[in-house]
Amino acid sequence: QATLEDSDPELANLIKQEKERQREGLEMIASENFTSVAVLESLGSCLTNKYSEGYPGKRYYGGNEFIDRIELLAQKRGRELFNLNEEVWGVNVQPYSGSPANMAAYVGVCRPHDRIMGLDLPDGGHLTHGFFTATKRISATSIFFESMPYKVNPVTGIIDYDKLAEAAKAFKPQIIIAGISCYSRLLDYGRFRQICDDVGAYLMADMAHVAGLVAAGHIPSPFQYADIVTTTTHKTLRGPRAGVIFFRKGLRSVKTNGDKVLYDLEDRINQAVFPSLQGGPHNNAIAGIATAFKQAKSAEFKSYQSHVIKNAKVLCEALIAKGYQVATGGTDVHLVLVDVRNVGLTGARAELILEEVGIACNKNTVPGDMSAMNPSGIRLGTPALTTRGLVEKDIDQVVNFIDAALKIGAEAAQAAGSNKMVDFQKVLAEDATIKAKIEQ
Ligand code: PLP
Repeated sequence: QATLEDSDPELANLIKQEKERQREGLEMIASENFTSVAVLESLGSCLTNKYSEGYPGKRYYGGNEFIDRIELLAQKRGRELFNLNEEVWGVNVQPYSGSPANMAAYVGVCRPHDRIMGLDLPDGGHLTHGFFTATKRISATSIFFESMPYKVNPVTGIIDYDKLAEAAKAFKPQIIIAGISCYSRLLDYGRFRQICDDVGAYLMADMAHVAGLVAAGHIPSPFQYADIVTTTTHKTLRGPRAGVIFFRKGLRSVKTNGDKVLYDLEDRINQAVFPSLQGGPHNNAIAGIATAFKQAKSAEFKSYQSHVIKNAKVLCEALIAKGYQVATGGTDVHLVLVDVRNVGLTGARAELILEEVGIACNKNTVPGDMSAMNPSGIRLGTPALTTRGLVEKDIDQVVNFIDAALKIGAEAAQAAGSNKMVDFQKVLAEDATIKAKIEQ
């Protein structure tokens, strides 16, 4: 059979170019990582050929003997990785990714238009935690459920748990989500539990960003407190692009729209994933999850995660030393949220400037930003650079690159007129002073 190179050189060449881009650049997008060759092998295996709607032992298709064993292995390794008792915790490894996993969790425990509360997107939450704007319900999680976001304190950048407790009492949500996409501090899961208990809500932890740090035991685990834990497997966990839902087993008494009903979370969540939301599972991704869970049990992985955090702390301190404001004044995890206004830039412009010099990151709102469309910060993460072997002294050098690029970029932007988007390359080509600085 012909290889991709032989049968489709155009596509093969694009993949090659993307590989070069990944190899040559500095990858600082906090949600990205480089997965292992073993995970890539699982993903690129014959498992992608197989249909297996249903669950192990209860499939709608024949020929699933080995697929069943692979799915059960992924489930077992997931429980082992997070020290979960099989009697207490169930796990579903079929969600196609993090967003479908979150939607399935809500579909499992909510009826249409039940209420959910998550950290607002501009404050560090995720789209699927119920995001909407003043004019539009953006995420399906705010279209099909009623969402009331909670926020961080605009001065400290820390989640305002008192306000959340107050709002939860008034709003009476069915579910509260403790999870972040851009928040550099530990979550107080105990406090979330208390707030949920006070209003009879489920606590769902979305540990997508921090799952690798939790698995390695470097930050507190949500399992002690949560009813449901969702995650992606491709961020700090360094596995395939996929989602997983953990849920407490057993009958529950939960109010829905005022009525108390008894139901089994296991049935509800599994039903929600299949057949409510998805069809056949992506068995190659499930094998990749099993591979990643095994790798995450290793001493190497534990040490990798401690370097992820150390590198993030160095990144943070070095940026502060150069005069940047960092949200919350520090980090406990793998990411840093940097305010770039002090160098006269917006987040969007800073992202563009860094892209020009081969540093990938993303623009992000910082606490107190009025507009999510024009944020004042950038989010920087260390998981991918740490996988590539960068240690603390390398991160200091990376900060030198970032600082030089942003300051020179800001000067270039001013030279071009502050209201215009800058053609950075053009300014560099034309402006002798800036060019000389770059060459220094
Ligand atoms: N949950 C959190 C906290 C995330 O940060 C993300 C993605 O960044 C998701 C869920 C969604 O994951 P996916 O992009 O795989 O749908």
